[in-house]
Amino acid sequence: MLAMQNASGSLICRGGQLVDGRGGPPIPDAEVHVTEGKITWAGAAADAPMASEDARVIDAGGGTMMPGLVEAHFHPTYFNVAALEDLDIKYPVEYVTLLAAANARLALQCGYTSARSGGSLFNIDVWLKKAIEDGIHSGPRLVASGREICGVGGLMDWNPDFRKIGMEGLVLLVNGADEARSAVRKLVKDGVEWVKTYPTGDAAAPDTNDHHTLCMTFEEMSAVVSTAHNHGLKVTGHCRATEGIRNALKAGYDAIEHGTFMDDECMELLLERDVPCVPALYFEYASIRLGPEFGMPQSVIDGHQETLDGGMESARRILKAGGCLGMGGDYGFAWNPHGDYARELTFFVKEVGFTPLEVITCATRNGAKITGRIDELGTVESGKLADLLIVDGDPLQDIQILERREEFVAVIQGGHIRAGKLAAEIDNN
Ligand SMILES: [Zn+2]
Repeated sequence: MLAMQNASGSLICRGGQLVDGRGGPPIPDAEVHVTEGKITWAGAAADAPMASEDARVIDAGGGTMMPGLVEAHFHPTYFNVAALEDLDIKYPVEYVTLLAAANARLALQCGYTSARSGGSLFNIDVWLKKAIEDGIHSGPRLVASGREICGVGGLMDWNPDFRKIGMEGLVLLVNGADEARSAVRKLVKDGVEWVKTYPTGDAAAPDTNDHHTLCMTFEEMSAVVSTAHNHGLKVTGHCRATEGIRNALKAGYDAIEHGTFMDDECMELLLERDVPCVPALYFEYASIRLGPEFGMPQSVIDGHQETLDGGMESARRILKAGGCLGMGGDYGFAWNPHGDYARELTFFVKEVGFTPLEVITCATRNGAKITGRIDELGTVESGKLADLLIVDGDPLQDIQILERREEFVAVIQGGHIRAGKLAAEIDNN
């Protein structure tokens, strides 16, 4: 198992409130103590133990200390594409790798100290993860997915055969359970942790693979799950159509991406195993709002509207029922570019009706649950890694603060100050 090197020495963060990621009310005038990259104490300053004399003090300036954010549906290799087709022919793997590295650095600067890949070109996210863990490049702690799996003729199989363009760098195309097993076995060797599949289509492909279309059979999905689970991998999928969600939950999926059109049966299946869902709604909103500028046909925009309405309704139902929602947003399209990740959080507060505290809990603790590292990440508690975000303000009053990375005091990862104003000061010295 790879492990990022923790910072040596001690830190004390003080002078602000603590939102610890567990969902409770903030603790005013709090302190967080860090030694060797791990949190040793967190709570009200009045109760804090004596800190070591040589600890570096970080002043939150009356702002807020909180866990680093988790982007739960991150596509590091999507280079702000205007058309999905750009992904397989525009650039070679060498250049996409550099773009992915830049996107990872940007995500960390945006306060995202961890991210789960929602699919990557080639095997770039696996190696990007290694570069980040080895400390040779900055970025969120990554959970890798590598290439995605889709049925032949499905959403991700857009090149007709006469073009003689294979899709092997982007997606493994399968016909039947045997090929689904074989695709997962390839990914096992690649070193991924989550297998990303396409049980359904999307509004982006209105003619043959719209959001009510299935792109994999139940047999293919079950074969993916049994093979992946045998090797200790988890499975998720792009699930919009109701039947696709139901198939995924019945096949034993470990997470659902989007979960757009949930019916009562899907809700029951989801809650029965506490399967997390990552709605990724801002992508839909951005598509509707900016699609015309990018030449998106009206049929696609109408589909995105239907998808957004369905997705908002499902997200509210899941929250109300006590299910696990992660925040992640399919960033990496021209109208939904990297760097805008926290717009997802704002959207959930302003349009979906979540409270800022609920959204922050989804974006921290639930995100860590989805990465499989809740024992180490996602909340500010003694014993966990010191992955912290310190902002100059109160995101419980104004969630949009989390969009303004230029105003961050510090983004801390394993006790290292990686970004924010304090990092800039370190650079200048
Ligand atoms: Zn995605």
